[in-house]
Amino acid sequence: MHPVESSPSDHALARFFRTLSSAALQLAQDLEAGTPGEEGRLPLEEANLGSLQRLIVDTPGMDSEAGVSPREITQQLDRDDEPNIRTALVALEKRGVTELVPGASPQRWHLAPPYIRTSDRPLHKHCRRCGYPFAGPTVQEFCAVRSACDRRLREPGYRVPKGRKQDMTIRATTLAADPELGPIEA
Ligand SMILES: [Zn+2]
Repeated sequence: MHPVESSPSDHALARFFRTLSSAALQLAQDLEAGTPGEEGRLPLEEANLGSLQRLIVDTPGMDSEAGVSPREITQQLDRDDEPNIRTALVALEKRGVTELVPGASPQRWHLAPPYIRTSDRPLHKHCRRCGYPFAGPTVQEFCAVRSACDRRLREPGYRVPKGRKQDMTIRATTLAADPELGPIEA
């Protein structure tokens, strides 16, 4: 019996695990110390959300003071199952991720304070691509669902909440850069 010689890739692997374990140790210490994340906010990435929950928390305007109604979230996600959206919002509330906007009737929801990504990132009132009017200024730049955003380029007003206006200048700019996205000419 003679010892198996370690190859360069074994060394690399050993280095990797050493780095990994020191990072894991640091994380454990931070968790124990309750060290807040960047700017004292909890990252949503670590909230371990289901796929629909993830879509909901990423809906533009969920990070805004004004919040978003379940109906608008449903429309933004280009879905037709508002009851599921409401159920998911309540489940998220129980986990402390979302909360009802106080005093809003009909109800609106937004992220609970620990998850709001206040930062110096610019806020947007409209989708930078189709001009969809967000519920409130948001760090999100685009519509939650690309196919719905595409459709708003072809069909202005598609699932845009009543009383709000799609920014047609933004839409025109996008179409000027890429006419193929626009209405199909007869
Ligand atoms: Zn859009």
